[in-house]
Amino acid sequence: MNIEETADDVLRLDDAAWEQVVQATGGAAAPCYQCGVCTASCPWGLVKQEPVSVRKLVRSAQLGIDGWGEALWLCTTCGLCEERCPRGVPITDVIRSLRGISWRQRQEPADLRNLLWGVYWDGNPWGRPPSQRNQWGDELDLPRFSAGDEVLYYVGCTASYDRRMQKIARSLVALFREAGVRFGTLGDDEPCCGESVASVGNREYAQEIIDRNAKLFEDVGAATVVTTSPHCFEMFARRYPNLSGRFRPLHYTQYVAQLIDQGRLSFEHELQMRVTYHDPCYLGRHSGVYDEPRRILEAIPGIELVEMDHNRAEALCCGGGGGRMWTETAAGERFADLRAIEAAKTEAEALVTACSFCISCLDDSLKTSGMEMPVFDVSEVAVMALNAKLAEPVGAPA
Ligand code: SF4
Ligand code: SF4
Repeated sequence: MNIEETADDVLRLDDAAWEQVVQATGGAAAPCYQCGVCTASCPWGLVKQEPVSVRKLVRSAQLGIDGWGEALWLCTTCGLCEERCPRGVPITDVIRSLRGISWRQRQEPADLRNLLWGVYWDGNPWGRPPSQRNQWGDELDLPRFSAGDEVLYYVGCTASYDRRMQKIARSLVALFREAGVRFGTLGDDEPCCGESVASVGNREYAQEIIDRNAKLFEDVGAATVVTTSPHCFEMFARRYPNLSGRFRPLHYTQYVAQLIDQGRLSFEHELQMRVTYHDPCYLGRHSGVYDEPRRILEAIPGIELVEMDHNRAEALCCGGGGGRMWTETAAGERFADLRAIEAAKTEAEALVTACSFCISCLDDSLKTSGMEMPVFDVSEVAVMALNAKLAEPVGAPA
């Protein structure tokens, strides 16, 4: 803590530390008037005895006080506090900036160091071999992207390497092919988008990744880039430069909804299933995409969509953002456990979402709590509807 207590018990702030914090946050914390709505909104208050005092974190950013402790790294960057803040403080950006200072002071959690080394050495936060990045598509005869293709399909690290999430990438390829989309991927040359690095606050390294990737996208002539993950989408949409004005990132739910609107994709078979949809924070609150995933589900005959108590901008976070996928969360403190209970209350047969991190967290919580509810990606449900033989068993993704 950079506060000196004098004999008279007067607090003297450290000017150098103040300057460092104000510079890092760009003064974004200044409008805060300390109402505490953010602290009351933070889901940690639902699972911990002591809520995370988001208000204090923002206050420390105003005053230039460091020594934020564990609270700084608990944030999943879910954005619920930001959504409700009456002063419009970009709280998640403030938190990322404070994390950046902690990186410079070498006070980051060790698990997150491994994440960065994974991206540095292997080009993915999971530390998996770069040469295996494209193995998920070995039997799909995936076309290599060339300028002039309608879409550059950006698969992303998790859908490339995680066996469960590879099914989402395969489902998307099936949807593109059904709609006759001319698409291509970058194969083993696909780089990490850098979102995990940015969300844990290592701004300098994230910027290096952005600059390198922006050049690559420019060189290959990328225009419409469709992502599997809302995290990659948000990264491209908010933090990448708009290459020569052509760069148009879309999350796949936006693109598939467009294909349906254009009549290029339609669903003939009935898929009798009552489902509930979980809004991923990076697709919903951070990117404002609420309708498109629902429109895809509603375009499938036989699907009944029921909402959970908290939905759209009020949806409860799964707990996997902001680097939390790479840090341990104690049993009993997982937000996804609460979400699983909400999903079960709807009496839906399946929980559907559109983010690999959400699928992973929600699936774990449903399984550990003994609830027999499968978790699907929207793309998987769409493929089930396209293919009658996959439509039968609820619980078996494409
Ligand atoms: S909700 Fe906004 S204004 Fe209120 S304490 Fe939090 S950051 Fe400050
Ligand atoms: S972004 Fe979410 S987890 Fe982070 S402080 Fe705000 S409400 Fe809490």
